[in-house]
Amino acid sequence: MSAISKIDLWQVLDSRGMPTVSARVSLGNKSANAIAPSGASTGAHEALFLRDNKESYDGKSVSETIALFTKEVLPHLIGIDGNDFAELDKNLRNYDSSRTFSKFGGHIPVAITIAAWLANAKEKNAEPFKVIADRLNSTPTLPLPMVNIFSGGAHAGGAIDLQDILAVPIGATSIEEAMEWVWLVRESTKSLLSKSGHDQSLVADEGGVTARLQSDEQALQFVSDGIAKAGLSGKVAIALDIAATQSFQGDHYQIHESGNIKKLSSEQFVSRWGKWLDIYPIISVEDGAAEDDNDGWKQQSEYCDRIQIIGDDRYATQNDRLVSGIANLEANTILIKPNQAGTLHSALTALTTAKGSNWGTVVSARSGDTEESWLVDLAVGSNAGQIKVGSTHRSERSAKWNRLLELSHFATASYIGKAALSHVKNLNI
Ligand code: PEP
Ligand code: MG
Repeated sequence: MSAISKIDLWQVLDSRGMPTVSARVSLGNKSANAIAPSGASTGAHEALFLRDNKESYDGKSVSETIALFTKEVLPHLIGIDGNDFAELDKNLRNYDSSRTFSKFGGHIPVAITIAAWLANAKEKNAEPFKVIADRLNSTPTLPLPMVNIFSGGAHAGGAIDLQDILAVPIGATSIEEAMEWVWLVRESTKSLLSKSGHDQSLVADEGGVTARLQSDEQALQFVSDGIAKAGLSGKVAIALDIAATQSFQGDHYQIHESGNIKKLSSEQFVSRWGKWLDIYPIISVEDGAAEDDNDGWKQQSEYCDRIQIIGDDRYATQNDRLVSGIANLEANTILIKPNQAGTLHSALTALTTAKGSNWGTVVSARSGDTEESWLVDLAVGSNAGQIKVGSTHRSERSAKWNRLLELSHFATASYIGKAALSHVKNLNI
């Protein structure tokens, strides 16, 4: 047993300049910090990120929830075994029993539980990924990266409707080769956009390129051409994060095409991207229907044999929602975002359930992220298979790629590559 001797919480800023919480957890004479990330396209089922709604930072500060938590909960956490992730989770939920942590928000528990894990690693003089691997009894692997090239939606001022067009270097045999390939695709896509008169002096929230185009499909064409221009056709595939919850208006979807607003039924919305599978090398679609659009989820399940169907908002890294999704045979992959779950233990529970059902797992950063790189250790140690942290650009993104490259350099684990997609029977490429 390694009792928690001290916890400090204070306000810091994330990659979008938004206030968030940093936690320092001390176990004996070892301590570690962790900062909570935050999303822009948040779902209704995920742990909340509560802001103070007071004058400070124009309503965006988190210092009041920190003060409340410090007074009401923190003293009760001292003395708990910091190595016991489940016990820490249970104790945190004692003081905020709602699934979404509606009293104090999920940002504080996630920062504390991650910091406890990292302090635990220091105590054991072990790399953080090793602690996760030992805990889950898994063999560490370097994940297949899914890298943002073109951004839209809530990450790029609605430049296009869908949120992410990503590159997946399925032909690469090392993480070094994989990173170079996606970098080349980003450069060539940017140059094609530039040559077509789209200003490329700015980057989106996750460091991707963007442009106000006529339609989602036009952006898809640019990325597809970018792959060809880089000479990587057949070696780099495309993944989409449609983030459909953002386009859902209660009973229909609203999208933009050539300056017009179009209303689509669930069926029309899913069929619209379903057609793209025959034209572009798409191997993965995330949130292809809105979080609670059961008809849409049912319809897209027909693509499970050809591509990864990922649930992000749909499952919100919540184990019981995932269990229903598995029972419904509606998808084959879950996005794992620790702060959606609210604690490390809950996130690992969902990841373990998914792997136990031969579902894919993609460990993911948020659009508002931080300079920390523990997410990579989580993906490597859990043998998640895939990781998504945005573009190659911007330090909060490169911090994570650089950790992956560090682990590769020290030959910590082997690169999983395309084998991470073995849960998809007839990959669409
Ligand atoms: C996502 O939707 O996968 C994502 C990373 O965005 P956000 O963090 O804004 O929810
Ligand atoms: Mg998403």
